[in-house]
Amino acid sequence: MDLNLTPSEQSFREEFRAWLKANIPSDWDASGFDDSEHRFEYLRAWQKKMYEAGWVGISWPKEYGGRGATLMEQTIFIEEMARAAAPPLINVLGLSLLGPTLIAYGTEEQKQRFLQNILSADEIWCQGYSEPNAGSDLASLRTEAVLDGDHFIVNGQKTWTSFGHYADWCFAVVRTDPDAAKHKGLTYMLIDMRSPGVKVRPLKQMTGESEFNEVFFQNVRVPVENVVGKVNGGWEISIATLMFERGTLGASLQITFKRQIERLIELSRRIDHNGRPASEDSAIRQKLAQIYTEIEIFRLNQMRTLTRMARTGVPGPEGSIQKIFWSEMNQRMQQVAMEILGPFGQLTRESEYAVDHGQWAHAYLRSRGNTIEAGTSEIQRNIIGHFVLGLPKSY
Ligand SMILES: Cc1cc2nc3c(=O)[nH]c(=O)nc-3n(C[C@H](O)[C@H](O)[C@H](O)COP(=O)(O)OP(=O)(O)OC[C@H]3O[C@@H](n4cnc5c(N)ncnc54)[C@H](O)[C@@H]3O)c2cc1C
Repeated sequence: MDLNLTPSEQSFREEFRAWLKANIPSDWDASGFDDSEHRFEYLRAWQKKMYEAGWVGISWPKEYGGRGATLMEQTIFIEEMARAAAPPLINVLGLSLLGPTLIAYGTEEQKQRFLQNILSADEIWCQGYSEPNAGSDLASLRTEAVLDGDHFIVNGQKTWTSFGHYADWCFAVVRTDPDAAKHKGLTYMLIDMRSPGVKVRPLKQMTGESEFNEVFFQNVRVPVENVVGKVNGGWEISIATLMFERGTLGASLQITFKRQIERLIELSRRIDHNGRPASEDSAIRQKLAQIYTEIEIFRLNQMRTLTRMARTGVPGPEGSIQKIFWSEMNQRMQQVAMEILGPFGQLTRESEYAVDHGQWAHAYLRSRGNTIEAGTSEIQRNIIGHFVLGLPKSY
């Protein structure tokens, strides 16, 4: 592919870079990993501001409030957000997962009803897939929905539901035909989290935050018009959502990783190991160089994913290659950070001696979840084995 930007892509980059420079609030704490209500509202207001300035939904069609820009411009947008360490867009699951799914599979009424509010962050979304006994094997899920006139009645439990405690809406996969083969009896539906019978219980993570939750549904009424696609045809749609998730994440991550490795290199020059700067220790130098190289490989693979999406309109199995690559690489990078920082690496933001406001301790602990969320490494390898290498299915 051609890695050079066209003049219009270049000017798009410059325009957005200038906008960010002028608009990122001066009180923004980029090291932030606090999950308070205050931070949530702060980020919601920031997304609204970006939306009003025309900077949300870059590649979404104009008729639904997007900018109608190209995939490359969308990538430039993500890169610039990461480069400027801008506050993130809070409605990430709506923007990256549900929005593209509705654009591809939703009815016109659903697009009109939901897309604009995803962009403006007036309605925050969560993803109701995993259950206590259904994660990797999602199709074994048991939350059931039974038709009752023009509503479904939903009963069951979801878990690991990120943003569940803030969400207004949930895109969920539920079982509507218990007698059909397990992939066939599923339906994809949009559930109002304010409905009677929805209960949310936050789960504490080892980072100390509560990013995700258990969600209980007890006789929750969902209008039939909230079904996306066909009743019992939800499997295909739920997989499309996952492909969007894996395909688009890489662009911002490569910039975030690049910033982190550059910072680590800087720290290695200042922190001593055995009486001399860590940067002079050959083992540390090799590890830093290895990570640096891997981030470059990740960037180039991201371009490959983009090329495919630009040609076919959908992400392919490259998304799984990228998912394994970045999640495992990030764990290795955070390990190297701990080696360089030594005991300082364990200090959290509360300590006055913490390096970079304790972000390294947080990043190390948070990275453990990377090889689980959005499909575990084992599952990604199964997908690559089957869909890329053409090996027989093992599951
Ligand atoms: C930070 C974070 C955020 C998340 N957010 C959400 C969310 O918003 N919404 C949501 O629905 N879910 C969310 N999840 C859940 C996530 O999708 C699941 O944890 C994941 O799919 C794995 O499922 P599980 O935890 O049930 O593990 P299991 O599926 O029980 O897997 C246990 C182990 O067995 C392995 N294994 C399972 N099947 C196979 C196989 N066929 N071949 C080889 N190995 C296998 C797995 O790789 C894993 O190591 C989140 C998870 C994390 C960590």
